[in-house]
Amino acid sequence: MRRRHGSRPPRPPRPARLSRPPPLQHGELARIAFLGAAGEVTGSCFLVEGPRWRVLVDCGMFQGGRAQAARNWSPFEFDPASIDAVLLTHAHIDHCGLLPRLVAEGFRGRIHCSSATADVTRVMLEDSARIQAQDAARATRKRREQGRQQPPIEPLYTLEDCERACGALRGQAFGAWFEPVAGMRARLRYASHILGAASIEIAFQAEGRERRIHCSGDIGRYDEPLLRGPDELEPAELVLMEATYGDRDHRSMVDTLREFEEILRAADEARANAIVPVFALGRAQEVLHHLGALERAGRVRPRPVYLDSPMAINVTELYRRHGDCLEAGWRQLLATPQGALETAQLSITRSQEESMRINGVRGAVILSASGMCEAGRILHHLKHNLDRRGTQLVMAGFQAAGTLGRALVDGTRRVRVLGEWIDVAARVHTLGGFSAHAGQSGLLEWLRPQTTARPLVALVHAEPSKRAALAERIRERFGLACAAPERGDSLVLDSGAGWRPRMPGH
Ligand SMILES: [Zn+2]
Repeated sequence: MRRRHGSRPPRPPRPARLSRPPPLQHGELARIAFLGAAGEVTGSCFLVEGPRWRVLVDCGMFQGGRAQAARNWSPFEFDPASIDAVLLTHAHIDHCGLLPRLVAEGFRGRIHCSSATADVTRVMLEDSARIQAQDAARATRKRREQGRQQPPIEPLYTLEDCERACGALRGQAFGAWFEPVAGMRARLRYASHILGAASIEIAFQAEGRERRIHCSGDIGRYDEPLLRGPDELEPAELVLMEATYGDRDHRSMVDTLREFEEILRAADEARANAIVPVFALGRAQEVLHHLGALERAGRVRPRPVYLDSPMAINVTELYRRHGDCLEAGWRQLLATPQGALETAQLSITRSQEESMRINGVRGAVILSASGMCEAGRILHHLKHNLDRRGTQLVMAGFQAAGTLGRALVDGTRRVRVLGEWIDVAARVHTLGGFSAHAGQSGLLEWLRPQTTARPLVALVHAEPSKRAALAERIRERFGLACAAPERGDSLVLDSGAGWRPRMPGH
């Protein structure tokens, strides 16, 4: 393991190391340990073990403020070299962001995911490495300014670490079984959510019959117009299911588009901009898609639209390469000039100079990353627009606690952006219908076909109140028990019995 000299300042104490999952014990046929996204939304990481294999499902970063970021430096709860393979559901950083560290610290297997996820993960991890390098350089500079003579602070991982991790990616076709390691099979199913996203079915033999574990990954909306899915999965005995929006339904797409129209009209009346912080992956393309459709239908006037995120531009190109992930109707449109991801006056701004020229424009829509307003070019657009009455700030994705995006959504009227305090005069809208995640009804719909085998449902990837709300609905609707694992908890498959929580100290 490489030595690390430091981390982002200020460095909080490392969280106490959890006890390593012990080997399977007599009578235990399989086990799953919850190492992240358990009782929280980020850091997806689940260790699934059979008698002769050990795979990791996702290896994501913790996100949302400094305390969470510091957790990315904690030692892994397992020896990376002992993992046979990784199954990756999708390319969001809270699912794939620690893969470079995993490889740098000894993992030598393959990372299986959809072909689209492999391509998108490359873009996401390179961006992540750049952010790590910037953070480390900033921390080193600060240390020097304070007159401390210490070696430079190393980033969490480097571009080379990323390249090695990307070299381990193996694109798999949706719907086809493959064998990541002898003794277990896996299959990817469309999950909608973002380009390439999959739910993963795991199958293995135990005591003469096939056992099934399903990992939902993140589940997209059923009324999302662009992406294919979610697929209907077969019955399973254990279902790991995300519950990000387990407590509510989003507004319908029809209502959401009507609201979006009204927001654009309000911006027109004030001759102001509509600012849309977008995740470079997913929301940028969906918002672009809807803008184009509204313009072509004559429901809003054509206006300058800026896609101001080099990464979003790169990801948009990948939509063209992976048409299989799109709803059939859009595959052909993508190939035409008036494609599914075009508006009449679309400007793509790759360079910093082009981006800075947007500071003076009015009456435009500006799509820029990052989606939670934590970093990136969006901060400059917020600085130039938030204090203007008439500016419409459109939040189109999930905002984690502790982020600037969440503060704005919560109605904070004075925020710090790029070191400056700004009074918020803009109107802040939350367009829940553009969420990449299914709402409560969608989650229940996804689970329904899997319930005939009376599975244990383990709810992950959610704040505790949302998880509890979904557990209640699942009990009512399907009469099924739900587990609410916390970080470090395990479930075991017992000989002769089903899945049960593993008692601490056992
Ligand atoms: Zn996701």
